[in-house]
Amino acid sequence: MPACQSGKQGFEIVQLTTTNGISFYQFENINLLTGVSHGVFTRHPGHSKSPFDTLNIAHDIGDDHRSVEENRNIIAGCFGNRKLVYASQVHSNRVLVIESANPGSSVPLTGDALVTNIPQIALVIQVADCQAVMLVDPDRQVIANVHAGWRGSIKNILGRTISTMQDRFGCEPRDLAAGIGPALGPCCAEFINFRTEIPDKFWNYKNKSHHFDFRAISRDQLVASGVRAEKIAISRICTRCSTDQFFSYRGEGKTGRFAAVIGIDAESIIQFKQRIVILILGFHVNYLGVLE
Ligand SMILES: [Zn+2]
Repeated sequence: MPACQSGKQGFEIVQLTTTNGISFYQFENINLLTGVSHGVFTRHPGHSKSPFDTLNIAHDIGDDHRSVEENRNIIAGCFGNRKLVYASQVHSNRVLVIESANPGSSVPLTGDALVTNIPQIALVIQVADCQAVMLVDPDRQVIANVHAGWRGSIKNILGRTISTMQDRFGCEPRDLAAGIGPALGPCCAEFINFRTEIPDKFWNYKNKSHHFDFRAISRDQLVASGVRAEKIAISRICTRCSTDQFFSYRGEGKTGRFAAVIGIDAESIIQFKQRIVILILGFHVNYLGVLE
């Protein structure tokens, strides 16, 4: 095991296996929540040939389209064949609020953070070294999946995503559970040209050999937005150190993208409870109205 995987701090990411034999990782804290399904898949087992071997889920990087679609179907199968929502990721800080069960049917989605409260779809981030960061408001049943590469991180895409969750859905940052997925670790995130690429306010996340700790940057951005530190799970897996399991752009150049997926389940217990409360309140109001 590489050094970058060692050291447990707070919540971790754990590996599970589905009944059909497909391995994926889950965050311990998000796994405890009701009404949400999620998984960070590896590069196996899929249909793509080298250098996209084998579970590549990204089009437009040179892989065979049929293989990509077959791979996407494998992922969908692990989520009850629900609609998977993909966006063209462009290293921006653009946040997309998904408001229908069939988004992108007229205009393709372009952006790097997906937010929704719609059940029975799943939000997908395509990864090869960048972080996929998942956010869940368990009370309001709102989720986000964020593509946070270094360009997105220095634009604070996480802060923008949380602001969107607050403005559109009334989320409280202190209620959010967060998970930072497998990504380029500080062992491998060397930025020789950091003076021109990375603003100096991030230089205190750099060691003497110009390696940056983007996990710490994301954690601190989440906390600065109001997320409680104890509700953040951080994967210690470095993708470049683990190309047997994950795709790594830095490590392999031309390669695939693995899937980080999260969705709200169709009928969660929490939604059911909320409906009961509304029914009781409604009955109470009606009853008072009759009395008057
Ligand atoms: Zn590494």
